[in-house]
Amino acid sequence: MSSDKKRSAGPAGRRFKATAIIAFPRVFAFLPDILDSIATHDMQVVASGGRYIVSSLFGVATVEAGEGTLTLSVGTDQADHLNRLKHALAGAIGFIARSEKLALHWSGDVTGPSPPDDLRELRVLRTHAVTPGVKRVVFAGRDLERYDRPDQIHCRLLFQPDGTLAPQWPRLDDDGRIVWPASGVLSSRVYTIREIDAAAGLITIDFVLHAKPGPATRWALSARPGSLVGMLGPAGNGPRPADWYLLAGDETGLPGIARILADLPEQSRGIALVEVDGEEDEQPLRHPPGVKLRWLHRAGGQSARSGLLVEAVRACAWPADSASAFFWGGCEFEAFRAIHRHLREEVRLPRSQRILYSHWHRGMSEEDIIAVGSKAYLP
Ligand SMILES: Cc1cc2nc3c(=O)[nH]c(=O)nc-3n(C[C@H](O)[C@H](O)[C@H](O)COP(=O)(O)OP(=O)(O)OC[C@H]3O[C@@H](n4cnc5c(N)ncnc54)[C@H](O)[C@@H]3O)c2cc1C
Repeated sequence: MSSDKKRSAGPAGRRFKATAIIAFPRVFAFLPDILDSIATHDMQVVASGGRYIVSSLFGVATVEAGEGTLTLSVGTDQADHLNRLKHALAGAIGFIARSEKLALHWSGDVTGPSPPDDLRELRVLRTHAVTPGVKRVVFAGRDLERYDRPDQIHCRLLFQPDGTLAPQWPRLDDDGRIVWPASGVLSSRVYTIREIDAAAGLITIDFVLHAKPGPATRWALSARPGSLVGMLGPAGNGPRPADWYLLAGDETGLPGIARILADLPEQSRGIALVEVDGEEDEQPLRHPPGVKLRWLHRAGGQSARSGLLVEAVRACAWPADSASAFFWGGCEFEAFRAIHRHLREEVRLPRSQRILYSHWHRGMSEEDIIAVGSKAYLP
């Protein structure tokens, strides 16, 4: 059977299958964001006859909302992909609909706890200061091809305690839940893959060394050759083909903007807006001549509160035919929310022409954001 036929057969045609029926009274209020979140994590979501078919490297799934229920079915041909696929769906639902306190249990085939197939161990090869506030870390790793994707530029890094000699990594159980190793829960944060050369086994990540370091920034501050992280993913949509681009971000959005600019076709047109503290935080970026790069300086003002990025986005003149325009951005939550509102309500840019992430939330660690749920993360 060809892989296409297998795909169209859905979960039913696969060797390992499982189903979960979730009692979910307000399912229709959450469904669009759940599907969006699934699609952001390297899975294709296609509506088909009242349900959604989800295709991923781990297998196929269907998602079907009914009156007060959400039914998930997964199918895969590889035993060690089954729990990863369950986790991909359960993770998105649990995060977006955290307030609903849903109970999710799977029935069907079980394979026992297994390591996530996308987990890679990376060792620091070298580091250097790109600017006073950004430390570049070049990692060496193996089997990185699945991360070498212009449309999936984010990853989740897992941090081992400093000095760990024999790292232990989490596994996924038969409900798709994370089982932490005996050594304890590992901190993790999301970062952008600034550069990747899968053939050479190299990945570059730029860490913003911000003033209230949490586990990721503390790890980056002390990172030296040989330091270890785990990587999961990839995730996060890159830009889609367009004639005109507006890219906007703060220091945390800069790695994505830099990567996108470097990959845009030479004839591309548009504007890239990057908010940093001052001139010493600017980086030389390769970009098509028709894309104007503007640095916005806070000059000592508080990041997330300056309003500079929001103002600059609002001041941009869009092409008369915005059907061929695309927006990509990443920044602090408050700016994220204001820009989102502007794009949706004033520019009226369709969802399919914009990708904007809240990269951090002033005063909240990632654990705080997860505890609050989508209100701290979605517009
Ligand atoms: C899709 C995506 C891509 C990202 N890409 C990158 C990237 O390439 N490089 C990068 O450096 N970051 C990136 N980030 C942001 C990064 O994940 C967060 O900044 C993260 O909170 C840092 O973790 P931490 O452990 O240092 O701080 P946390 O423990 O999460 O937070 C501790 C405190 O620091 C504050 N804080 C967090 N980040 C910042 C910041 N940037 N500036 C000022 N205060 C902050 C929080 O509000 C909190 O008060 C990305 C985030 C997302 C969602």
